[in-house]
Amino acid sequence: MKEDDTTNEHVQVLIIGSGPAGYTAAIYAARAGLKPVLYTGAEPGGQLTITTDVENYPGYPEGVTGPQMMVEFQKQAERFDTDVRYGVVTDVDFSGWPHEVTIDGKKKMKADAVIISTGASAKWLGLADEIRLNGQGVSACAVCDGFFFKGQDVAVVGAGDTAAEEASYLSKLANKVYMIVRRDEMRASKIMQQRVFNAQNIEILWNTETEGLIGENQVEGVAIVNNKTGEKRVLNATGFFVAIGHKPNTEIFESVLDLDESGYIITTLGTSKTQIEGVFATGDAQDRIYRQAVTAAGSGCMGALDAERFLAQKEVELAEVTQ
Ligand code: NDP
Repeated sequence: MKEDDTTNEHVQVLIIGSGPAGYTAAIYAARAGLKPVLYTGAEPGGQLTITTDVENYPGYPEGVTGPQMMVEFQKQAERFDTDVRYGVVTDVDFSGWPHEVTIDGKKKMKADAVIISTGASAKWLGLADEIRLNGQGVSACAVCDGFFFKGQDVAVVGAGDTAAEEASYLSKLANKVYMIVRRDEMRASKIMQQRVFNAQNIEILWNTETEGLIGENQVEGVAIVNNKTGEKRVLNATGFFVAIGHKPNTEIFESVLDLDESGYIITTLGTSKTQIEGVFATGDAQDRIYRQAVTAAGSGCMGALDAERFLAQKEVELAEVTQ
């Protein structure tokens, strides 16, 4: 990783974010000779750095830890001379071309193409135990971590489509799934609710909130309270899945790009193109449905290929103008 001591830079491709989407975009852009500069953001490596084992990413038959995988993504990007820099993009100006971005509130630089790979963050309840036991039984992704709870009892918090989907997924692996729902109804779509109701081993705990988690180094129980009766109990669950929604990291694009009602960047179907020429969105920042490392990586590849085509087209146009 290089120190960022340059000023008034103008680069061909600027990549914002360092999860699977950002690094894959970097690998493709660098191999295409576009000399990408990648800013890591505040959480270098992205969401995978807070997961433990990744067993569903093809090419790792024995599995790999999330942090190790991201070290390898970075190494691969740097092998082709991606300029990876610590820094947070704090502002963007896409009103003209080349595009302008501000790093860490002070440094301004220009980029012919910008690939946004800022990811999303899971929402958490805000309990101290969630942080203390993250990766030790606490998870925000059943598809990633459910396998480790085969035959055990687990709890899922939330009542939207994500929670219903996570509970259904876990019910096929776990012995029992408790669904902790804070109201007396679920927000999830009827079909998803029905799936939950039909599962023999899902127990819904209505009007229930989580007070804390039991266990020193691993989740051993979930302390809950009924918010109508005040009755407290401890669930003997070893997995605690928080599924109360995700938040795409797109605040800085709010007044600049088209976002959907949840803040995900809207792209032209089947591409990474935003409504602004030369600005591409990849990974979880634009994906409210799949949100997997492998889909993010695939989308990062799309971003680089779209950027490459855009730059080639721009070159032709500029050559025509100067003729
Ligand atoms: P939602 O915002 O739809 O639901 C969040 C859920 O978490 C709500 O039930 C909410 O409760 C609950 N919640 C929020 N904060 C807390 C808290 N502090 N304590 C306890 N519970 C809490 O998020 P989702 O991720 O479920 O869905 C996001 C979007 O993605 C939706 O539009 C959804 O339809 C879509 N989606 C679609 C899927 C599909 O079609 N297969 C799969 C997954 C998501 P309350 O209801 O009381 O507010």
